[in-house]
Amino acid sequence: MNVVVVGAGLAGLTAAWSLHRSGVEVRVLEARDRVGGRAFSHTLDNGAVVERGGEFIEIDHHAIRGLCAELSIPLIPHGVTFHRRPIDGETPTAAEIQAAMAEVTRYSRSRLARHGADFAVDEAFASALGSSFRSQPAYRRFVTSLAADPAEASARHGLLDADQVPFEHAARARGGNQRIATELWSRLEPSVELGSAAVGVATDSGRVVIARSDGSELAADAAVLAVPMPLLSSIDWRHGLPEPWARALDQLGFGHAAKLSAGLIAGAPPRAQQASQASWWSWNSMDETATTSVRAVSAFAGGSAVQESLNLDGGAPSWIDQLERQRPDLSLEPGSALVTRWDGEPWTRGAYSYGRVGWEADVDEALRRPQGALVLAGEHTAGTLAGTLNGAVASGNRAAADVRRLLSL
Ligand SMILES: Cc1cc2nc3c(=O)[nH]c(=O)nc-3n(C[C@H](O)[C@H](O)[C@H](O)COP(=O)(O)OP(=O)(O)OC[C@H]3O[C@@H](n4cnc5c(N)ncnc54)[C@H](O)[C@@H]3O)c2cc1C
Repeated sequence: MNVVVVGAGLAGLTAAWSLHRSGVEVRVLEARDRVGGRAFSHTLDNGAVVERGGEFIEIDHHAIRGLCAELSIPLIPHGVTFHRRPIDGETPTAAEIQAAMAEVTRYSRSRLARHGADFAVDEAFASALGSSFRSQPAYRRFVTSLAADPAEASARHGLLDADQVPFEHAARARGGNQRIATELWSRLEPSVELGSAAVGVATDSGRVVIARSDGSELAADAAVLAVPMPLLSSIDWRHGLPEPWARALDQLGFGHAAKLSAGLIAGAPPRAQQASQASWWSWNSMDETATTSVRAVSAFAGGSAVQESLNLDGGAPSWIDQLERQRPDLSLEPGSALVTRWDGEPWTRGAYSYGRVGWEADVDEALRRPQGALVLAGEHTAGTLAGTLNGAVASGNRAAADVRRLLSL
């Protein structure tokens, strides 16, 4: 039995690793010349490791924590909490965040139960928290991470369980989150082809035929397609993208995000700070000794509007300027700033998925249902775990189980 996995992000590599351990012959095609996809770590000149993509691994992210344990990769706490960010110099209490999110969730559930019709995230926050909702820490945190226009994002998709907020410190992999991918890669080599994109998919007499970018073809008993959502439409589907998947994908959008990483002249007490009027935040994370921070500051901007307001088309200067005003406690190393804009990454084309207004719960089930010998994986197929590293890993495990069922293994 042989299986092709397209995409060597965490979803594809997890699926490939799980199938490999079941004795399946696996071949992984990866368009880039590196593995990891949106798990993309970088070492600054001062030696600090920063994450250009997925960073925070929450306490309840069990699938990725399980994988890290299996690969003997330690997780280091950030020393800042993801959900309770200081804003305008004030740190909201856990109870304040919890109460605001519980109100938004309660409003959303009850309106959906009464009227059925979906509505926008902004509408839910406005109705539940009142006209000043945009200045509330719970809202700023939520829409920054949403990375999409909150007037277009679905309350049914994003808010029904939004009161389940972990306040424990999130963590990151020692050596960088991309290490999770490179460890899997080293176990799967030589089955991983870098610089090899899948450009076409066909099924023929129960077999899958994948066309590669070099013009060659690969036939397999099944295929796992673990590419970012926007890349699915750039593949030439000889028989068309399966209809149930196409309909489900129409109900999802793909957000926009950028990150800034810069070296620090010296470590400082770990802290986070959310911008009060815009969807970006910054943090300097605790180092491994838990005494000071690593010598780096990172910032995340979610959504396209904030990227315009930070003038990212003009490069890093405007964001650095705002960061220095937001974080007078830090001394940035001149010339060390690195901006990563995911919209411009040809093999990602954005940040991560979100539900559009009108989203229905059967979307998740449709994306998870195999079509013949074709199986989808990736964060966008991970239901309530979508948009996370953990969701990518969970989707890879689920896709591998589906393939085993398809092949009666
Ligand atoms: C800026 C940013 C910040 C984030 N922060 C967090 C966070 O703090 N915590 C968290 O949990 N998550 C975070 N995420 C989300 C997380 O990074 C993703 O959900 C996760 O990494 C997605 O993994 P994946 O395997 O589904 O997709 P990807 O990692 O995108 O992997 C897909 C792979 O497919 C390859 N590919 C594409 N097309 C083809 C093709 N035709 N042929 C072959 N290969 C192809 C790509 O090159 C890529 O390697 C963040 C994401 C971004 C962008």
